Amino acid sequence: MYVSEKAKNIKASTTLAIDSKFKAMKAEGLDVVGFGAGEPDFDTPEYIKKAAIEAIQTGKTKYTPAAGTMELRKAVAEKFSRENGLTYEPTQIVVSNGAKHSLVNAFMAILNPGDEVIIPAPFWVSYPEMVKLADGVPVIVESTEEADFKVTVDALEKVLTAKTRALVLNSPSNPTGMVYTKDELQKIADFAVKHDLYVISDEIYEHLIYEGKHVSIASLGEDIKNRTIIINGVSKTYAMTGWRIGFAAAAPEIAKIMANVQSHASSNPNSIAQAATVAALSGGKEEIETMKKAFVERRNYMVERINSIDGVSCKKPNGAFYVLMNISKIKGRTIAGKLIRTSDDFAELFLQEAKVAVVPCSGFGNDDFVRWSYAVSMETIKEGLDRLEKFLA
Ligand code: PMP
Ligand code: GLU
Repeated sequence: MYVSEKAKNIKASTTLAIDSKFKAMKAEGLDVVGFGAGEPDFDTPEYIKKAAIEAIQTGKTKYTPAAGTMELRKAVAEKFSRENGLTYEPTQIVVSNGAKHSLVNAFMAILNPGDEVIIPAPFWVSYPEMVKLADGVPVIVESTEEADFKVTVDALEKVLTAKTRALVLNSPSNPTGMVYTKDELQKIADFAVKHDLYVISDEIYEHLIYEGKHVSIASLGEDIKNRTIIINGVSKTYAMTGWRIGFAAAAPEIAKIMANVQSHASSNPNSIAQAATVAALSGGKEEIETMKKAFVERRNYMVERINSIDGVSCKKPNGAFYVLMNISKIKGRTIAGKLIRTSDDFAELFLQEAKVAVVPCSGFGNDDFVRWSYAVSMETIKEGLDRLEKFLA
């Protein structure tokens, strides 16, 4: 069949694939526990739901400007000013169908065929595929567990070419949970300015930091702000994954191109979800604090348990809600008659034999790891780790 070569080369999202496998097994009545897709197990706060109901009742049910309502873009600009010390005009804000969509718009806006984008590994599974969709070339920079999965400017310099256009930064990181400090960000900002690169700064986990503090790289000076496209959204912070609202802030020219691209691809994001997001951004942070408290407790328990089990280990992440488990010592072992060679083998066998869904990091750029999400109940975490212990014994 005649199809697009570009589209044919796009891989399916591993996170979503594992999640749908897990949900299908559960629907079949199997006793399966899931640590796949990262989405808070908490419900969307009541005041946000109320705002959505009110939006329906007051007729906010029509097309809005493609880049989002002025009310929401103002609320987003205020959020950047209040929380990140950044000044943006509402016209520099583009609201999209989730941060995923914001990222696609960003790459579409800045890349020409063959342009290279540096992506530090381990990376969130979608970045390289998004770059390819926009005719760009992903260039992966490795980082090590010993260095807390952080990249240095030295490593970045090594992959720089005349075609390098942009760098992806994701702090706190999915999947590593690491958080860059202000000093580290300053070095990366200097590098980006020196080489005239864009920075795509995905800050969607900014409120889920347990040690340290979030700093937006864009706040480190006008030069870096002008070349940074900040990506954020409400999925994680407000437990609103299904509502599909993300947003970007960028230099006026870039924001305009992103909005134009979106005006043809999808028009405005859902008008009711936009109204709910105005309420979310303007509300208090009590619910976030409650979620954070639960996440810290779960993270601590998960990290301690994993490090007490023979053959596997993990670092303690400072943010987001994922733990990367090192399985390099398990590779080469035979479990239940099957040889484990890759993280895919591990994840598949663990799901088949122990009925536990974790995400193999083959798709995240480091095959020595699998990812556990701790945005699930403590009970589920205990069950999953009990099963891991038995599986490896
Ligand atoms: N960036 C990162 C790092 C993520 O983990 C996710 C997870 N969904 C997204 C962006 C996209 O989020 P959403 O589309 O739900 O806003
Ligand atoms: N970002 C989440 C994850 O990594 C949700 C799934 C997805 O959007 O890929 O699991």
